[in-house]
Amino acid sequence: MMLGLLLARAGVDVLVLEKHADFLRDFRGDTIHPSTLEVMHELGMVDELLTLPHQEVGELRGKVGQEIVPLADFTHLPTHCKFIALMPQWDFLDFLARKAARYPSFHLWMRAEAVGLIEESGRVVGVEVQTPEGRREVRADLVVGADGRHSLVRQRAGLEVKELGAPMDVLWFRLSRRPDDPANLMGIFESGRIFVMINRDSYWQCGYVIAKGTADELRGRGIEAFRARVAEIVPFARDRVSELRGWEDVSLLTVRVDRLATWYRPGLLCIGDAAHAMSPVGGVGINLALQDAVAAANLLASPLREARVTVEDLARVQRRRELPTRVTQWFQVQVQNRVIAPVLGGGASSRLPLLLRLVRRFAILRRIPARLIGIGVRPEHVRSVAAPAALTGR
Ligand SMILES: Cc1cc2nc3c(=O)[nH]c(=O)nc-3n(C[C@H](O)[C@H](O)[C@H](O)COP(=O)(O)OP(=O)(O)OC[C@H]3O[C@@H](n4cnc5c(N)ncnc54)[C@H](O)[C@@H]3O)c2cc1C
Repeated sequence: MMLGLLLARAGVDVLVLEKHADFLRDFRGDTIHPSTLEVMHELGMVDELLTLPHQEVGELRGKVGQEIVPLADFTHLPTHCKFIALMPQWDFLDFLARKAARYPSFHLWMRAEAVGLIEESGRVVGVEVQTPEGRREVRADLVVGADGRHSLVRQRAGLEVKELGAPMDVLWFRLSRRPDDPANLMGIFESGRIFVMINRDSYWQCGYVIAKGTADELRGRGIEAFRARVAEIVPFARDRVSELRGWEDVSLLTVRVDRLATWYRPGLLCIGDAAHAMSPVGGVGINLALQDAVAAANLLASPLREARVTVEDLARVQRRRELPTRVTQWFQVQVQNRVIAPVLGGGASSRLPLLLRLVRRFAILRRIPARLIGIGVRPEHVRSVAAPAALTGR
């Protein structure tokens, strides 16, 4: 959606395909980081975006054993917004879609699922799309696979995937929220369990991290045992676990971390999770995907406008974004292997790790994780366009 908006703003004819009828789903995280808010600022949209319901988190804290530990302090970042905005992703996507729709060359088809690639002489020249009206062909100078970690585009393009592995999956569900509940985003790390609660005002979006492949075993023990487990981890929500009526109220989110060896082929480019599926660790995947979109728009708007996109142009996008991807995934894999896997295995020491003790003691150290999470490696900036495409309506 962000790439569509930026390309349309630069005068490129663009069609975004979304297989669902809306963006209303729970599975993608709600974090809009300072780097993304900076992009919105550069587009002149941040003030309006922040009129939508959201919470601002200036400091991240986690509960490790019985201790509340400050982990990251965003209030010193060199960005306009010194906080993470927690906003349901569907609100953010709807907002971008509304803004993009002002450009006459922007088109969005909902309930339009890419089901295959059209190739001619070794070049991708379009996609086959399943719509409620039937199957259609869409031809394009460039097809961008931004279809997430189960990307059909990358699979059909036959791009080689390097798996980095993830030791966990996540059970995702809601519990209602009361005004006297704790307000902050909470991560609970205890021997044998990791639990995340995102404050969505009237309810908590809960993520219960489990060892990979153990969901069936948990389900086998029955929903009653699961409710009891949740009540034990978050005692203040004990009276609400009955809201989980059955396993249909609990979704399994499979976590994967991988990246493509090559992100492109003639006529095709993958970005975001389709190019590099991100772990939920650090909650940075959305922001990395967005930075890919900004870089791709910066590098490809002119060649696209002039209908002369080459493989070298596509390679430039990968060269620009590969370092941030590798560094971020390296950190995620370290946290997965050194923190999450031992905690899930029940083998973690009850003593706070040295790093966390240092971060707790010296406030200035909290700026380092804040920078890594909030801005990341190689932040991208929106280029001003020579002649912004005409706007229509709002
Ligand atoms: C459990 C879990 C929690 C996470 N929490 C966070 C978090 O808090 N913060 C964070 O930054 N990151 C988080 N992440 C990572 C984050 O979700 C991804 O990195 C991010 O969503 C990638 O964005 P994307 O646009 O590349 O793909 P997606 O967000 O997956 O978007 C892909 C879109 O393409 C559509 N689509 C898929 N296939 C097709 C098709 N064939 N045709 C048409 N449309 C299609 C999908 O419906 C979807 O709308 C989490 C990941 C997991 C697994």
